[in-house]
Amino acid sequence: MSTLESQRSLQEAAVAQFQRAADLIGVPDPLREILSKPKNEIIVNFPVKLDDGTTKVFTGYRIQHNNIRGAFKGGIRFHPSVDLDEVRALAAWMTFKSALVDVPFGGAKGGITMNPKVYSPEESERIVRRFTHALGSNIGPSHDIPAPDVGTNSQTMDWMMDTFANTSSPSTRQTLKGVVTGKSVSVGGSVGREEATGRGVLYSLRHWCGENDVSLEGLKISVQGFGNVGGHFSRLAAKEGCLIVAVADHAATLHNGNGIDVEALYQWVKENGSVADFEGADKVDTEDLFSADADIFVPAALENQITSARAEELSVRAVFEAANGPTTPAAELVLADRNIDVIPDILANSGGVVVSYFEWLQNKSGWAWSAEDVDSRLRKVLWAAHDQVVERKADLGCSRREAAYAVALSRLTEVYRRRGVFP
Ligand code: NAD
Repeated sequence: MSTLESQRSLQEAAVAQFQRAADLIGVPDPLREILSKPKNEIIVNFPVKLDDGTTKVFTGYRIQHNNIRGAFKGGIRFHPSVDLDEVRALAAWMTFKSALVDVPFGGAKGGITMNPKVYSPEESERIVRRFTHALGSNIGPSHDIPAPDVGTNSQTMDWMMDTFANTSSPSTRQTLKGVVTGKSVSVGGSVGREEATGRGVLYSLRHWCGENDVSLEGLKISVQGFGNVGGHFSRLAAKEGCLIVAVADHAATLHNGNGIDVEALYQWVKENGSVADFEGADKVDTEDLFSADADIFVPAALENQITSARAEELSVRAVFEAANGPTTPAAELVLADRNIDVIPDILANSGGVVVSYFEWLQNKSGWAWSAEDVDSRLRKVLWAAHDQVVERKADLGCSRREAAYAVALSRLTEVYRRRGVFP
């Protein structure tokens, strides 16, 4: 493995990404230093009673990277790989993502180091409620607003909101729904939030097709990860006539050159928990996902999945980073050398935070928007961000990732310039 793949922490890689764009547009040193470190780092160790009568102490994190443009905002991840370094990087990416799509939020991320699959629903509920209680007033609808991420979902958010409301003063409870986004629609969530990240990836693909005069119909796509983001993206893309030719999750990799029946696979995963043993495709080796004959690759699982060796195997025209941080710095150089376009995570997967903003606005106003309203506004916001990135890329003669960071950094720099540094 190259130095860029083996030695850098995720947090260092995240800092290096924005520093390249900061060099291009001349961001002042003090702001670079501010953005290189999270503002607050909250670590909580909390006990939970398990079903067998024993008690286990869990470690949870909430890293609040920046809030100069609005409340801290970002997902909650439950996964064995969660650690301080990972959550710091994910929190920083949220700051740049919110600034890029111009929603009035900052960046944060949280999580618990655990495998959510091994706990019963009752244990999961106790873990979520106790974690929320431990975070206490470190979260809040005007302060820090969690959302779902890997290993969490709308049920997790419903329990978080309910715990937060029930441990607050009775007279304020009805004003606290916006403490989290990604809730079930029946408890104050927004229609369209569940599939918003996948839908946003599809809009990114549509924009790219328009730029490159490529038709969506018949486009062959490989997808890594078939959870919230990868699953919904695949369903929406298949409806538009794309062929999902390869899909991988934590358990298996599937291939069908004629296009997988994505609706049938989605039902299968709902009932069986993974893509393994689905009959409508061939089971292939993990690495075959990267060498599959496809036009587009969509990583929608975890960080550092596209290594330089895998980047050499990809024969696609573009990579749409539905996951956060899926490409190692070394792989990014390989992709650039091979003229494979990369639509960066802070742009490609920003549909989730945009519809989270819409949910937060609906909670504030008490007004529920229609699916058409959510969808047309999402499309408008993402289209504007894509247009700005394309324009900046041409102006600066840089990569799409650098251009995306340049747009985000310009907004952050302007706010710091006007507000100054207290006192
Ligand atoms: P999820 O838990 O719903 O799904 C994760 C998927 O990845 C599952 O299918 C899992 O089996 C698969 N996976 C895990 N390890 C894998 C491996 N080694 N190889 C192949 N597949 C593997 O999570 P999600 O919400 O879909 O998030 C996926 C990615 O998208 C993450 O990087 C997350 O940060 C990012 N993201 C999510 C949202 C959101 O709204 N949920 C928003 C923006 C970005």
